Amino acid sequence: MAEHSSLIRVEHVDRVYDDGAVTALRDINLIIRPNECAAIVGKSGSGKSSLIHIMSGCDAPTAGTVYWHDESIWRQEDWRRLRATRIGIVFQEFHLLPALTAAENVELALMGHCISAADRARRASSLLERVGLSDRARHLPTELSGGERQRVAIARSIANDPELILADEPTGNLDSANADAVVELLLNIRRDRGAALILVTHDESLAARCDWRIRLKDGAIETEQEEEATEKEEKAPAGKLRPARGTPSPARRARKRKK
Ligand code: ADP
Ligand code: MG
Repeated sequence: MAEHSSLIRVEHVDRVYDDGAVTALRDINLIIRPNECAAIVGKSGSGKSSLIHIMSGCDAPTAGTVYWHDESIWRQEDWRRLRATRIGIVFQEFHLLPALTAAENVELALMGHCISAADRARRASSLLERVGLSDRARHLPTELSGGERQRVAIARSIANDPELILADEPTGNLDSANADAVVELLLNIRRDRGAALILVTHDESLAARCDWRIRLKDGAIETEQEEEATEKEEKAPAGKLRPARGTPSPARRARKRKK
């Protein structure tokens, strides 16, 4: 795959609700490349969830186009296929099925694939092990803490080995210790698997752990800011603000080339 290629690209996207009474997104342009980690921040009502819904194909833009690997995606069927095989989603409210155990919730994400029940169970078990919940596999969601439920939801979101993980306020219902653990887990998983991660969060300190920060205001991208490089990374001009263009800054491009 060419290094400059985009994984998902949002071009001139608007989303209005209620026949134009509410403009949730206005002229959003954004490029997420394979293996990138971006945070989306902004006040409540700034359009973060609307953008995630459009990037997952759960909602369609009023205007504009979303491209997956440079191919425009329009049909619900294509989006369904992407969500089943290439895109994993984590929600603030976990969205686990209450009557199913942790393992069954994870297995559900593997239904419809040509794998046997035994393989499905094995895979679910290894995913729960990955998120540190081997000993909770037979528990129902009501028997788990918020942090544990979110870890089950993360295991489910990566069941299909996605190229892109979209996490919409995954720590919104968690205390700060669990929020930290969940973000750490998402970042580690993303690194291990070479997936891209888009993390929506209110918490600026959690956002700072991503490579760059996209700030939404009133439905528009206000700024895109590259985070300071960690010690492990190449030193690059840090914390620099750049105008929202939907394209990487020269600094970011340079850093990616060096990786
Ligand atoms: P955020 O996730 O940043 O809090 P949202 O994307 O949920 O923001 O919402 C952006 C704006 O769009 C808000 O003004 C919200 O009230 C409005 N909105 C979101 N969903 C709908 C909907 N289904 N119908 C009407 N308005 C909506
Ligand atoms: Mg939201």
